[in-house]
Amino acid sequence: MKETKKSAKPGAKPENEMRLRIPAFPQNEGAARAVVGAFVARLDPTVEELADLRCAVSEAVTNCVVHAYGGMGGPLYITVRQWRGRRITVEIRDRGRGIDDIGVAMQPAFTTDDTGERSGMGFAVMQTFCDEVRVKSTPGKGTSVTLIKRLSDPQEEM
Ligand code: ATP
Ligand code: MG
Repeated sequence: MKETKKSAKPGAKPENEMRLRIPAFPQNEGAARAVVGAFVARLDPTVEELADLRCAVSEAVTNCVVHAYGGMGGPLYITVRQWRGRRITVEIRDRGRGIDDIGVAMQPAFTTDDTGERSGMGFAVMQTFCDEVRVKSTPGKGTSVTLIKRLSDPQEEM
């Protein structure tokens, strides 16, 4: 298989990594967003890049709280990695109910919520604010959402 120069080679190691395990409680959503933001802030991102990533993390974590565990709580695993070329990946993983059809779930305005509180825009927001969003899920076993964002080079912007 041909590899482009930009893609990480199989087995490539991140330059830095942080792992977090917290219960999927609503009150931990802010903490998750802040901790990921703090990890990334050290790399001198733009205000916009930082805000985008924090917002995408919020959406993914809220989905775990609300959909994966139905508000009952459960383990939430967050891994933030910094790769060569200022590429950031944030993996947000749960062991909740899973998603039956990922393609359908990711369509804007699709929601399984019947309380009227949700608008079905979480995945659309993640996709708008990140370069790429990868979702894997097994019904009954859980879901993993990986947010990918490449930070601009502060040298290039000067
Ligand atoms: P909003 O994000 O606008 O409040 P929403 O959460 O329903 O509404 P999305 O975030 O786009 O919208 O998610 C779409 C659907 O995908 C959800 O309604 C839910 O059915 C499913 N889903 C998303 N994340 C998970 C998850 N971690 N576990 C199980 N189902 C999920
Ligand atoms: Mg959502």
